[in-house]
Amino acid sequence: MSGFPPPLAGASPGLRAAPPAGGTTRWYGQRVSTEHAGRPTLLVSACLLGTRCNHEAGHSFRAAVVALAGTHRLVPICPEACGGLSTPRPAAERDGERVVTVDGDDVTAEYERGARAAVELAKAVGARRAVLKARSPSCGSEQVYDGSFTGTLRAGEGVTATALRAAGVEVVSEEGLSRGTAPADVV
Ligand code: SF4
Repeated sequence: MSGFPPPLAGASPGLRAAPPAGGTTRWYGQRVSTEHAGRPTLLVSACLLGTRCNHEAGHSFRAAVVALAGTHRLVPICPEACGGLSTPRPAAERDGERVVTVDGDDVTAEYERGARAAVELAKAVGARRAVLKARSPSCGSEQVYDGSFTGTLRAGEGVTATALRAAGVEVVSEEGLSRGTAPADVV
């Protein structure tokens, strides 16, 4: 990996990710900033910035992703939380076009709601690129678990990654960043 700015000393992911004051628009009734001091905007999986929003109420903090705040405006989102799912919540995997929990519940509607929220947020803040957590049934962008809950991966992407790409947003995982396969202006 090369080209990353150095990690921000004492960075608080949530605070560093907050948009600066300036012009605003609306997103699901919330006011969001549309100004970013000339920095490109990246939509980012909130768990990568340290938010404890995954199904076990844990996070997937990655210093390299937080460090992008030195050159980008980071806008965090957790699509599963935005879709109405609680934290913690049962593990879920993609099963064909559906998303099902380990308990057998169909949570496709919640995942799709979260994906729509992510697309709307990307549009509202002008994000044309996203850094999303690898292998998540929402955020995964290269591989996802296959629905058998046996830890088996298959090629594919999460519901939100699919929706963002369909909307023209370029998606890369945190692992893509570390492999140097991210868009040239991200790394
Ligand atoms: S939905 Fe995305 S942002 Fe939320 S916990 Fe899962 S991987 Fe992280």
